[in-house]
Amino acid sequence: MDYDKLADLLFPDVTDDPDQYESMYPERNLPEGACVTRLGPSPTGFIHLGNLFSAFADERIAHQSGGVFFLRIEDTDDKRFVEGAAETVIRSLDYFGISFDEGAGADGDTGAYGPYHQSERGAIYQAYVKRLVRRGQAYPCFMTEDELAGIRKTQEENKENPGIYGKWARCRDLSYEEVEERIKAGESYVIRLRSDGSNESPKYIKVNDAIRGEISMPENSMDIVILKATGIPTYHFAHVVDDHLMRTTHVVRGEEWLSSLPVHIELFDKMGWKPPVYCHTAHLMKIGENGTKRKLSKRKDPELSLDYYRKDGYHPAAVREYLLMLLNSNFEEWRIANPDIPADEFEFSVSKMSNSGALFDLDKLNDVCKDVLVKIPATELAGFMTKWSEEFKPEALHLFKGQEDYIARILDLGRDGKKPRKDLVCASQIFEFISYFFDEYFRIEEDLPERVSREDAAGILKAYLATYDHSDDQGTWFDKIRDIADEFGYARKPKDFKKNPDDYKGHVGDVSTVIRLAIVGRSQSPDVWEIQQILGKDRTENRIREFETSLERA
Ligand code: GLU
Repeated sequence: MDYDKLADLLFPDVTDDPDQYESMYPERNLPEGACVTRLGPSPTGFIHLGNLFSAFADERIAHQSGGVFFLRIEDTDDKRFVEGAAETVIRSLDYFGISFDEGAGADGDTGAYGPYHQSERGAIYQAYVKRLVRRGQAYPCFMTEDELAGIRKTQEENKENPGIYGKWARCRDLSYEEVEERIKAGESYVIRLRSDGSNESPKYIKVNDAIRGEISMPENSMDIVILKATGIPTYHFAHVVDDHLMRTTHVVRGEEWLSSLPVHIELFDKMGWKPPVYCHTAHLMKIGENGTKRKLSKRKDPELSLDYYRKDGYHPAAVREYLLMLLNSNFEEWRIANPDIPADEFEFSVSKMSNSGALFDLDKLNDVCKDVLVKIPATELAGFMTKWSEEFKPEALHLFKGQEDYIARILDLGRDGKKPRKDLVCASQIFEFISYFFDEYFRIEEDLPERVSREDAAGILKAYLATYDHSDDQGTWFDKIRDIADEFGYARKPKDFKKNPDDYKGHVGDVSTVIRLAIVGRSQSPDVWEIQQILGKDRTENRIREFETSLERA
């Protein structure tokens, strides 16, 4: 067979010499050890936690080594195409502090290794496929869908390996004339790789995966499709060409690609290129309803979607912190030793990534949020609340915008001192948590303490109001509450009540809870004296008065 002639028959218009691409996209001029990584999302418009997880590893690998992290849109599957894909990816990741150095952008590509949309790289792929045909390493295949389905069925029935290889590769040895005739007859065809692997007695290949260590797998023996009938390449072929020409050094991708690794290794080999370092990440798992580990699912788990975190206003620094924890098993230990250092100073390493599935746990994330948020200055958090409400709670924007100083005072409540309160999780929770500071959201949410009658409560509030002096210091203020407790038959100190419960109706804690209910509407809150200082004299007195009147009215 004259493969040159076959190549010209299949690609009459492809005149590019693939070698030109080697000089168009030369080795990158980067310092020794610098890594080049990429995110290659399909433009489905859905970018999830798993993407963020690998993007974060990509970003760390590149930026920690002084390398480059770029975005390539893998839009070869037109069925799944969604408009504005690059924009969605960029916006979603940007929220979590992940940015690209080059690649597809909201307003076009940047960088010297583009185009960064696979759909715009047709000429490049075709030039390389033509070369493979010229070398006898790829061939046209005219098998129809029905024929392929028939083969699959027979293979299943005979318990043979599925796929196109050996006797099933029926178009492998067509003559030039036959190919020409079938093309003339308008038959559609794909281009398949002519694999050198053996299906009966495969050799084993060894690949060093940066996460999994040395992997040994049977070589590829399938004549896989590299160019579809539409002239568009498959993922296998496109990623090999792209990662070579874009000079990617590390490919971080999900473990679902592990089984096609031998295909990729054979393709790199046939192209005469060195494969990148593969890093196959384990799936994100969660403990499911029945207590066993399972993969996070798009259908069942809203927390898989990145929008979930933006809507609830998870602070990016907290999510980053938690992801690092999931990504590297030694992060937690490092954090304990270095409580105040920015997380980015932690030395991330691919080899410390789990190969058995990182366990994602929302409760744990929430705990991490509390630890991270307690260290973020209140003024910054106040700004964060404004930004969040702008997008996700516009009806409350007026409570935050321009009110940042007031909000910062609220957020700082109980955060100084040796044991700062750690109760801020995310913007939506913070909003609920501090909503009693906003008159339009304030309401009495709980019942009176069991030991306090309605009449007593009204009396306590009346007495409190009568002696209330906004300029009292905390000690004087509380002494007054003890006096009121006394007056109404409640012990001045809880321990007195504990000793002689029959002598009292309750203790000072019950009395202060009534006051707390009036001011905060809840029985749990930061320090009431401090809350009053922030509310101011008038609002404090009004709340006492209103609760008292409502108790009397009922
Ligand atoms: N387009 C592939 C996907 O969305 C990317 C896999 C890779 O990173 O190589 O799964």
